[in-house]
Amino acid sequence: MRDESESTAARLMRWYDAQARDLPWRVPPHEAVRGVRADPYRVWLSEVMLQQTTVAAVRAYYAAFTIRWPTVQALARAEHADVMAQWAGLGYYARARNLLKCAGEVADNHGGRFPDTVDGLRALPGIGPYTAAAIAAIAFDRPAVVVDGNVERVMARLFDVHTPLPAAKGELTALAGSLTPQLRAGCHAQAVMDLGATVCTPRNPACGVCPLITDCKARAAGTAQSLPRKTPKAAKPVRVGIAYIARRSDGAWLLETRPAKGLLGGMLGWPGSDWAVELPDAPPPLPADWRDLPGEVRHTFTHFHLRLALRGARVGANATPTRGRFIPQADFRPADLPTVMRKAFELARADL
Ligand code: SF4
Repeated sequence: MRDESESTAARLMRWYDAQARDLPWRVPPHEAVRGVRADPYRVWLSEVMLQQTTVAAVRAYYAAFTIRWPTVQALARAEHADVMAQWAGLGYYARARNLLKCAGEVADNHGGRFPDTVDGLRALPGIGPYTAAAIAAIAFDRPAVVVDGNVERVMARLFDVHTPLPAAKGELTALAGSLTPQLRAGCHAQAVMDLGATVCTPRNPACGVCPLITDCKARAAGTAQSLPRKTPKAAKPVRVGIAYIARRSDGAWLLETRPAKGLLGGMLGWPGSDWAVELPDAPPPLPADWRDLPGEVRHTFTHFHLRLALRGARVGANATPTRGRFIPQADFRPADLPTVMRKAFELARADL
């Protein structure tokens, strides 16, 4: 039965103490109440990985990173190419580049310790308002207001906010702030996120098991399913391009490291054209008997859909490319490629 004297935040905390998700970067609530804090390095790493990516997809990457680089100092000393290869497949590669910059900054200029305030964290490379608030709350128990998509949805429903996103962001952040307690702020932040991820889900919120059902204005108004409202996004444009996949007679593959700046910056890839609305001019990376390979790669990035035509060639042992380098078969790991390049490999391999 509802205890009228108990606040919304307290009801949520009671639910979290019993139902918190078991996540590898998290300190469980029964330890958090004893003052155990999460390692800021691990909170930071998990939060960067979780941007635009699901928990299920992040788990294996998180495990691999923390085994290979268990501290921020270890990551700061890592080879750039090793980190990019370990990140391959997770997408949004600017995150991996910023990861290295930030690790270097913490190791070199902060004695290997993350700052413990939102402002101090925000001054680090690649840490925006959300990540700074999440680290401050989860690792340092600061009453920072942590607002991700899950939190926005819970707030929009709890307070029946009909202003569409993204215009509603400020209002939803203020509402999240109004619920944030001074004590156990880190647990509170994770509780709201967990509620959004497991109970107050985008479709079919499980209001029957929600600890906030009696607080929830959208539930009372019958509007929960339609919230949060969103301003429709413009349709994504389609871009096209060509990738050249060359294999030497000894089995080596011709790959290149993409320019540091821009999409998939610093990642390994097949030499090819730019990606544009009209098929760009794209001279091959070496003279060969190039042929069109069957099929095309389709991949969706944040701002566009890509259709990539493939051209393939077998070349002799003395072939000299004008761009890229041949990577011996024994050293070539398709898992080191970003997803779109791996799709191209999977499509082309049978023909080469
Ligand atoms: Fe979400 Fe339903 Fe809980 Fe409201 S009652 S917060 S809509 S799960």
